[in-house]
Amino acid sequence: RSLNGKVAVVTGAGSGIGRAIAIRLAEDTAKIAIWDINADGAAETAQMIRDAGGTAIAIAADCSDKAAIHAAAEETRATLGPVAILVNNAGIAPFTPFMEIDDALFDKVIHINLRGPYLLTKEVLPDMLAAQWGRVINITSSSVQSGSFAQGHYVSSKGGLMGMTKALALEFAASGVTFNMVPPGFIDTPMLRAAPIDVDAFAQTLPMKRVGKPEDIAAACAYLASEEASYITGQTISTNGGRYMG
Ligand code: NAD
Repeated sequence: RSLNGKVAVVTGAGSGIGRAIAIRLAEDTAKIAIWDINADGAAETAQMIRDAGGTAIAIAADCSDKAAIHAAAEETRATLGPVAILVNNAGIAPFTPFMEIDDALFDKVIHINLRGPYLLTKEVLPDMLAAQWGRVINITSSSVQSGSFAQGHYVSSKGGLMGMTKALALEFAASGVTFNMVPPGFIDTPMLRAAPIDVDAFAQTLPMKRVGKPEDIAAACAYLASEEASYITGQTISTNGGRYMG
């Protein structure tokens, strides 16, 4: 389980799933850099990790902005060291009927959910290639399997991220860097509570009669980040309580 002080960047870790991933990787002895556009949330997560005896820094950064990503990477390297683990978790999930999606909104969703991970991966992959060891874990979505009403922009972005994960897994298979993805089902976070869904009633329709916890996603990420997962790349750990299979 030990990550031996490796440096992990977790984006969007100021809330929900990203916070749980950051806390879990810190428990597994990684040094954590939290990058989030929400400075307060990022600082809160970093404090939680430090209070528990771990190492964490918070960086306020828009993870769709190339200059901000470069600055965050430089700060992370200078403070903690080269990046070994990247979890692309930051995302937005608006609900908009397709004919009402304007071009600016479509571009925004793609920029944060897909172009951001592309830029981030390019920024930190050289650290991993130099070390001949690295883990890139992309948080996608079970909605790519199921579709999702009024989320044409969102599901497109997550489908693109799944494709990118597989393409890079193959391209870098011999490099010591693995690329995998975790598509959450319905997970109890501020994002889900903001959705136009009656969460408690909906939970009763799920096989396990409950939505997932952020920690459920964190556990899958912890496994993929670990040494034990070194022969796993281009793969998916669907964490959805059995709602979608195969
Ligand atoms: P959340 O809204 O609770 O947290 C998302 C975090 O990302 C926030 O802290 C937010 O500030 C940050 N963020 C948003 N835009 C950013 C940007 N441009 N730069 C940096 N940070 C940014 O959401 P969550 O439920 O924890 O979702 C985390 C990930 O899981 C997302 O990618 C989401 O699409 C995915 N997901 C969630 C669910 C679910 O049911 N909660 C289901 C499927 C997929």
